[in-house]
Amino acid sequence: MPCCDIQALLAEAEQELQPVFKGIEQTEQAVFQRVLAAFKEHRVAVQHFAPTTGYGYDDIGRDTFEKLLASALGCEDALVRPSIASGTHALATCLFGLLRPGQVLLAASGRPYDTLESVIGLDGAQGNGSLKDFGVDYRQVDLTKEGLPDLDGIRRMLREEPKIRVVAVQRSRGYAWRNALTVKQIGEICTAVHEIAPHAIVMVDNCYGEFVDSVEPTQVGADVIVGSLIKNPGGGLAPTGGYIAGKHELVEMCAYRLTSPGIGREVGSYAASYQPFYQGLFMAPHTVAQAVKGSVLFGKVFQKLGYEVSPTPDEKRSDIIQAIRFGSAEPLIAFCKAIQYASPVDSFVTPEPWAMPGYADPVIMAAGTFVAGASIELSVDAPIRPPYIGYLQGGLTYAHVKLALQEVLASILTQ
Ligand SMILES: *Cc1c(COP(=O)(O)O)cnc(C)c1O
Repeated sequence: MPCCDIQALLAEAEQELQPVFKGIEQTEQAVFQRVLAAFKEHRVAVQHFAPTTGYGYDDIGRDTFEKLLASALGCEDALVRPSIASGTHALATCLFGLLRPGQVLLAASGRPYDTLESVIGLDGAQGNGSLKDFGVDYRQVDLTKEGLPDLDGIRRMLREEPKIRVVAVQRSRGYAWRNALTVKQIGEICTAVHEIAPHAIVMVDNCYGEFVDSVEPTQVGADVIVGSLIKNPGGGLAPTGGYIAGKHELVEMCAYRLTSPGIGREVGSYAASYQPFYQGLFMAPHTVAQAVKGSVLFGKVFQKLGYEVSPTPDEKRSDIIQAIRFGSAEPLIAFCKAIQYASPVDSFVTPEPWAMPGYADPVIMAAGTFVAGASIELSVDAPIRPPYIGYLQGGLTYAHVKLALQEVLASILTQ
């Protein structure tokens, strides 16, 4: 790669991106309006931040935050807990809460996110308490060659298999070279599903998608959405947690799975303050917009340098991820190292590819984050295998992402 004037390259990219940035700001404004209205509607006050201990009966901070996030996501109800350990835990709780033995789960956007394979029982393991262990069967309809929902395929599957109870849709690209599904596309899936199977539940894995668009999947027909608080909706401040949001009766079923039948959402204390959850949600529309702008800038600059990027800078975004195809291992590894060195935490650490459990190839991860593993903060994940794609996401501020990009360019353009 020939060396070039990095400052000039960045200035030109930013100039050309002005219309795209303007659109991101408009979305932020629309989302923020909904979020602030929710704070007012639920009369959030200092008393809601207070910690609780023990059973947590009538924990007003917890109960109010659940109503608040439900409104912010345009939903009837939400189960939101610090005790939901991750996005996978939230998704598993939802699937086990909604499905019963003899029923069928349909994945309508192809093979789901890696960590769900063990939950569903696709990893071949036996006796680990997967859905398969409990007699829940699985079907899958892949996206089309163009990466679009296969609506005819979904309709056909629903007609053939009346036992389908939950239709799972993954909004984000995850770690695959495909576009995130837009909320509009998800709405089309919901319409197709409910026409043929009115009682089927559409569950959207909303991880990485929250607040990237001005509407959420539950506002276009999804019955339930699921996500992680150390991604978008935590705004970079929530220290842990996850959510399940949507129709009231479905959220209740998930609550009975999370704690216990009969008790459900009535218990659950938190001995630290709820304040970071509330403030994180307040910040989330802005944080997400900063991360999306950062992703677009990376996409634009790498596209100018001749790399293949997905999505392209002008494509409509529905998650915060920017994928860049490096073509060989060396620049990809240099890229990840440069991101790590540009982090506020652990900037002196050198990430190396390692054999992560559950992955066929070594994976390199760069994340110098305040909240451990939080991918709303600037981070990269990359399996070391052809075609050597880096998946970049997050960034609490655009200034940070831009500075990291400068350092990345300095590192790989001089190689
Ligand atoms: C992050 C993510 C998950 C859940 O991952 P955790 O690491 O368990 O939080 C699930 N699906 C998608 C698309 C994700 O991005």
